[in-house]
Amino acid sequence: MLTDLTITAAAGALRRGDFTARELTQAHVDAVAALNPRLNAFITVTSERALEQAEAADAALAAGEAGVLAGIPLAIKDLFCTAGVRTTAGSRILEHFVPPYESSVTANLLRDGAVFLGKANLDEFAMGSSNMTSAFGRVENPWKRVGDAEAMLVPGGSSGGSAAAVAARLVMGATGTDTGGSIRQPAAFCGLAGIKPTYGRCSRWGVVAFASSLDQPGPFARTVGDCALLLGSMAGFDAKDSTSVDLAVPDFAAACRRGVAGLRIGVPREYRADAMPEAMERLWRQGLQWLRDAGAAIVDVSLPHTKYGLATYYIVAPAEASSNLARYDGVRFGRREDGHDLTELYERTRAAGFGAEVQRRIMIGTYVLSAGYYDAYYLRAQKVRALILRDFTEAFGQVDALLTPTAPTAAFAQGEKMDDPIAMYLNDVFTVPASMAGVPAMSVPGGLDAQGLPLGLQVIGRPYDEETVFAVSQVIEDAAGFSAMPAIRAGVAA
Ligand code: GLN
Repeated sequence: MLTDLTITAAAGALRRGDFTARELTQAHVDAVAALNPRLNAFITVTSERALEQAEAADAALAAGEAGVLAGIPLAIKDLFCTAGVRTTAGSRILEHFVPPYESSVTANLLRDGAVFLGKANLDEFAMGSSNMTSAFGRVENPWKRVGDAEAMLVPGGSSGGSAAAVAARLVMGATGTDTGGSIRQPAAFCGLAGIKPTYGRCSRWGVVAFASSLDQPGPFARTVGDCALLLGSMAGFDAKDSTSVDLAVPDFAAACRRGVAGLRIGVPREYRADAMPEAMERLWRQGLQWLRDAGAAIVDVSLPHTKYGLATYYIVAPAEASSNLARYDGVRFGRREDGHDLTELYERTRAAGFGAEVQRRIMIGTYVLSAGYYDAYYLRAQKVRALILRDFTEAFGQVDALLTPTAPTAAFAQGEKMDDPIAMYLNDVFTVPASMAGVPAMSVPGGLDAQGLPLGLQVIGRPYDEETVFAVSQVIEDAAGFSAMPAIRAGVAA
C-alpha cells in the first residue's frame, strides 16, 4: 500500500515514475478522511491545498527540478504558523487565528516540495504529555493493548496528533516541537522515530512560543532515515531567530550509515526509575547489547543532577510560559471577551480562552517569578540547570552518546493521571534533562511490552552532533527489526 511506504522509498519511486505525487497524496487524503474522525489527529485538514501542492510536485518532478521532499505528505503540528491556514496551538484563545506568515521550518519543508495534509492536534500550547488538554478534543493512539480493542490509549504529548497521524499511516512524517519531551515521548508511545535536535538547530521563528529557552522543532517518521531526511530540510540558520545557530546542516542521511564501531556509549546510572516496568529494563539492556554487538564500548556514567531535572523544568518552563502567554490578552489578536474596563477584558478573555492546565502553568510561572520568590525558585532553578548541563558536558568527555529509556512506561489509557498533575509530569523524567541541557536526543522504537505496546529507547548526543545520534539510532533500528504495526491504520480500521 502507498500509505505503508517510507519517505525514502516513496521519494525514489516518485523519481522513477512508479506513481505520481497526486496518487500518493490522494491515498493519504483518503486515509485521513477514513480515520481522522475517529483518531482526531488533525485539528484542521487541508486536503485541497495538499492536492494542489502534489500537482506542483509532479510538475517539478517532470521538469527534473524536484526538491528532496517533493510530493511527500506530512502533518504539521498546529503550533507552527502556516500562512493562510488556521493555527490554534490547541487553544480556544487562538481558535480563529489565521497567520499571515509561514514559520521558517514549514517554509523550508515547502521549499523542498513537501505536501501538507493539515494541522495536527496537540496539548494546549504544547503543555502536556497525553494530548488530553487540547481544546479540540483528545487524540486516540492507534495502538491497542493485545486483546483489548476497547481501551483508548493516549498517543503521548504534546505532539500527539503528529505521532498518531504518522503511526496510523495518515501521513509519512510530521513536524513536532519538544520543550521537555514532546517529540520523544509521543514517538515512543506510537512506535515511531522522533528527534529533538540541539537547541538552535531548527528555527523557532513562527512557532507559537511555550518556553523559549527550551522549545525546539523536530521531525517524526516511521524510520530513523526518514527523520534524517526531514531534519535535513527543517534545520538551518535563520536570522529571524536570535538563538538559531549558524552552522552548516550536515548530511544526516549519510550519518545514519556510519555505524557505531569504536564509539563509546554511556549508561547513566541515575536513569533507573523506581517501579520501571521489567520490559523497559530488559529493552534497555538489550539495546546496550545491540550496540556492543555492533562494535561500541559500553561505559557507566553518572549524571548526578538528574534527580533535580523535573523540579527545575517545572519552574523554568512555566516561568517562560507565563511571560510568553501574556500576549494573549484579547487586544491585538485571538479571542476577546468584552469587559467593563481593560482589566476585566483581560481577565474574562484569559479565563475563557485558556484551559485548566495552561492556567495552572501561568499561575506557577507567575508565582516563581514574583518579587520575593524569584531568588528562591527561578534563580535557583537556573543555577541547577547549569549543573545539569555540566553533568552532560562531563559525561561527553568520556562517551560519544548516551542510551536511556525514553519514558518510564508504555502508553497509558485516556483519563489516567488526569487528576494528578505530578503523575503526569513524571512521564518526562527521562526526556527533560536533555532539554534543560539543550543537547540532541532521539527516540527509536526498540520493541513491544507484554501488552503489545511499543517502547522507545532514547539516544542522547553532544551539542550539534545529531550525526552520532542518527548513527546510533540506526544501529538500534536495524537490530530491533521493529515491524509491528498499530491496530488502527490506513486500510485497516480496527
Ligand atoms: N510534557 C512536558 C510538559 O508538559 C513537555 C511538553 C513539551 O515538550 N512541549 O511541559
